[in-house]
Amino acid sequence: MNLVLIGPQGSGKGTQAEKLVDQFNLAYVSMGNLLRALKATDSPLAQKVASYIDKGLLVPDEVIVEVLNNHLSAIGRLDGIIFDGFPRVVSQAEYFEKFLSEKNQKIDMVIYLTLDKNEIIKRLTNRRTCRQCGRVYNLLTNPPKKEGICDVCGGELIVRDDETPQAIENRLKEFEEKTLPVVEYYRQKGILEEVDGARPIDVIFEDIVERLKKRHLING
Ligand code: AMP
Repeated sequence: MNLVLIGPQGSGKGTQAEKLVDQFNLAYVSMGNLLRALKATDSPLAQKVASYIDKGLLVPDEVIVEVLNNHLSAIGRLDGIIFDGFPRVVSQAEYFEKFLSEKNQKIDMVIYLTLDKNEIIKRLTNRRTCRQCGRVYNLLTNPPKKEGICDVCGGELIVRDDETPQAIENRLKEFEEKTLPVVEYYRQKGILEEVDGARPIDVIFEDIVERLKKRHLING
């Protein structure tokens, strides 16, 4: 099965993706992580990507499509994947649908994690990300065992460049204007599951698992 996770920043997409990957042996494709890795390289494309990400603006489709294609070739599979942060605009969703169908693949379920604006801002101001492996922590709800240090790889925990108040504001606007239409696109197709992201991590995960069962994507 292929899954897509959509939600505003801070809604817990990465956290749920990590749990789904562990439980169902999926490959994880995070467009944000791929773009941040690209941003860290020394190239003109890296500078272009940084100029969008750091302001909280969406990166143009042609860059996204190239990064996606390269990554999918590298992982060598088109099934058993969870996509986090892609597609984020309707043009990407349309491109992706065609791309997958040409290879006899499809998206089976789209998980839309909802969260209201106040909660988003509260979460983001408490968010720390590992500089090395990209794992995300929340100082209030999901703190690291040792302050400032990643539990998994020992890397330094930082505040992301795009978590300044202005960038947060831009990202929320981009989500409302460009990504909410993607939610409607998948709702129309009958593959959307809207999940309340304001609950504890494990409760949300159980809810997602129930919906996978209901759609016969897993046994049980
Ligand atoms: P994320 O880690 O998913 O919050 O993504 C961080 C940033 O990467 C976003 O604010 C965008 O600037 C960029 N980005 C990630 N995914 C996409 C996408 N599918 N299309 C355009 N820009 C993206």
